Amino acid sequence: MNEIRDAILADQLDAVAGMKVPESYRAVLVRKDEQDMFEGLEAKEKDPRKSLHVEEVATPELGPGEAIVAVMASSVNYNTVWTSIFEPVSTFGFLERYGKVSELTKRHDLPYHVVGSDLAGVVLQVGPGVTKWKAGDEVVAHCLSVELEDAAGHDDTMMDPQQRIWGFETNFGGLAELALVKSNQLMPKPAHLTWEEAAAPGLVNSTAYRQLVSHNGANMKQGDVVLIWGASGGLGSYATQMALNGGAIPVCVVSSAEKADIVRSMGAELVIDRSEEDYKFWKDEDTQDPKEWNRFGKRIRELTGGDDVDIVFEHPGRETFGASVYVAKKGGTIVTCASTSGYMHSYDNRYLWMNLKRIIGSHFANYREAWEANDLINRGLIHPTLSKTYGIDEVGQATYDVHKNLHQGKVGVLTLAPEGGLGVSNPEKRAVHEDAINRFRNT
Ligand code: NAP
Repeated sequence: MNEIRDAILADQLDAVAGMKVPESYRAVLVRKDEQDMFEGLEAKEKDPRKSLHVEEVATPELGPGEAIVAVMASSVNYNTVWTSIFEPVSTFGFLERYGKVSELTKRHDLPYHVVGSDLAGVVLQVGPGVTKWKAGDEVVAHCLSVELEDAAGHDDTMMDPQQRIWGFETNFGGLAELALVKSNQLMPKPAHLTWEEAAAPGLVNSTAYRQLVSHNGANMKQGDVVLIWGASGGLGSYATQMALNGGAIPVCVVSSAEKADIVRSMGAELVIDRSEEDYKFWKDEDTQDPKEWNRFGKRIRELTGGDDVDIVFEHPGRETFGASVYVAKKGGTIVTCASTSGYMHSYDNRYLWMNLKRIIGSHFANYREAWEANDLINRGLIHPTLSKTYGIDEVGQATYDVHKNLHQGKVGVLTLAPEGGLGVSNPEKRAVHEDAINRFRNT
């Protein structure tokens, strides 16, 4: 593995192409025999530092249409939090089901799950039938895994009945020295970024793009007022940039003065600090408080000069959903991709139907959307929001930070890269964007 890493660091990518794929590699994983370890604890008390391990595992066999990538850096996504706390379900059920699909997918059903849904690195080997990519290519990977044998997936690959999130619903994810991907997950690594910066946006940037910009999501247009929950977080930090780039007006919700400063530094002017303004949308476990929805809506109008919200970028779920439906304007859209605070949502349906609002479900992105989102990064129109980078042995702490909402933007993880700051092959382009790239650093 060291030989491969050294050749990548020396930019000898032709040499990498000729190297033998190692038989084993270090990987971040959860163990099947520990999937009940947190039983009886509240989700918040479940500690990823106890369940995530770094171990040597066997390199999987390479199948048709697949690639093995030497991973220089990866990042922590919220799905790594879910896997590590075995919530809302253990991911071993996904691997068992995937393992039953074919002879080839059996490889995924193992007593351990190598996690991670982002990577930046170099292709080491491609399987039969791969023509677009070759060993030695510098790449990032999006996390959509599809089989595409069914007609249903051919308008929009997210509709494939065999659609899975790589490194969450499949094995051999990106938080490791090697990763197994389908070749149609690969995209070019932006040359102006370090390995860890390039690995940071993938999952959240693509998700935000479909959810907010794509015609499959909210189809945002110029002048739209967009309420963005968690605007300095993983998804929100990309949604905020997309709203600003697209001529929309983001109203950014955050939970501290520091986070408010971060979104202002991206160019957002309308910011709500939900902690300072102390919204209490729930009176108790079962009862919401419409007066608080109303206070929140008034605050939005105050900031926008009287306008209500065209699009709500939803993901906190249960705690905020009632307010989100209420504050959307007549004919407005609530687009949701998650339920961090609970998936049983309730809202007052009178506000929805009488005001002709729409709720749209959105999930990750198809290859084209992920490619377009990566292209925005490549062109320097959207920037990574990497705040902190950990070594692979500290991945438990990195995931704990995200679980406890102690982070900003994205948290990176070095896998093969020995230190941060490596991998930039276009320093001139980087110099143009340096300040924007560093906005989230060490916040
Ligand atoms: P993140 O980096 O933790 O950011 C989420 C932000 O939401 C937090 O920083 C927090 O910001 C805010 N938030 C959390 N709980 C809240 C609450 N109860 N009320 C209001 N705001 C709250 O996570 P992320 O990467 O953005 O992911 C967010 C969710 O989306 C996760 O559940 C994740 O699994 C899901 N997700 C789904 C997809 C998909 O394809 N379906 C893709 C990516 C992520 P403040 O504290 O500053 O308000």
